[in-house]
Amino acid sequence: MKILIVEDEHLIANALKKGLEQEHYTADLAFDGEKGFDLASSGDYDLILLDLMLPKMNGFEVCNQLRQQQIHTPILMLTAKGQVEDKIKGLNNGADDYLTKPFAFEELLARIRALTRRPQKSASEIITIGDLSLNLSTYEVIRQGKQINLSSKEYSLLECLMRHANKILNKDQLIQHVWSYESDILPNTVEVYIRNLRQKIDQPFKTKLIKTIRGFGYKISE
Ligand code: CA
Repeated sequence: MKILIVEDEHLIANALKKGLEQEHYTADLAFDGEKGFDLASSGDYDLILLDLMLPKMNGFEVCNQLRQQQIHTPILMLTAKGQVEDKIKGLNNGADDYLTKPFAFEELLARIRALTRRPQKSASEIITIGDLSLNLSTYEVIRQGKQINLSSKEYSLLECLMRHANKILNKDQLIQHVWSYESDILPNTVEVYIRNLRQKIDQPFKTKLIKTIRGFGYKISE
């Protein structure tokens, strides 16, 4: 899960990023509306946390222009004001939800979960491929009844593969989903992480779930 944080107060932005990373999200930062809009235009994010009062472009403008460009990433608007008309304006401009600052981090997490929950997954927070299951709310990874401990990045990588089960993802796509843009990740790093992941989820078991599609990338399938 990749989240874009558009917030000009560096302290808040960095605290949000850190908190979200502890919850196994990948987070990118933008400190003004223009940069936020540029990053969000890529459509690479699963959710955008968008502050309202921002330099260069305010939150309403960012929201409005993204929707005009057919970018439908869920947007959670952060407003310091808590005024009813701002919330209505935000929702009219295409935001999906809003949260008034200051807010409890737990509440933010609950809103994020609600907005990123895919409709078909609403009944279950568990993704399963064969005898491997991944619990999106507890981060538990279990294969054949055994709990597998993964690092935060390994978990994100597995989650990404499992959300796109049976589809081939190339290294660039995996980098986009799992690492934030400011970290200089080389395609070789992906190989290293895939190898580590295989050691934990595939090697101790008979069937190999992670497949290398030579020249294309990786996929997870039964
Ligand atoms: Ca602000």
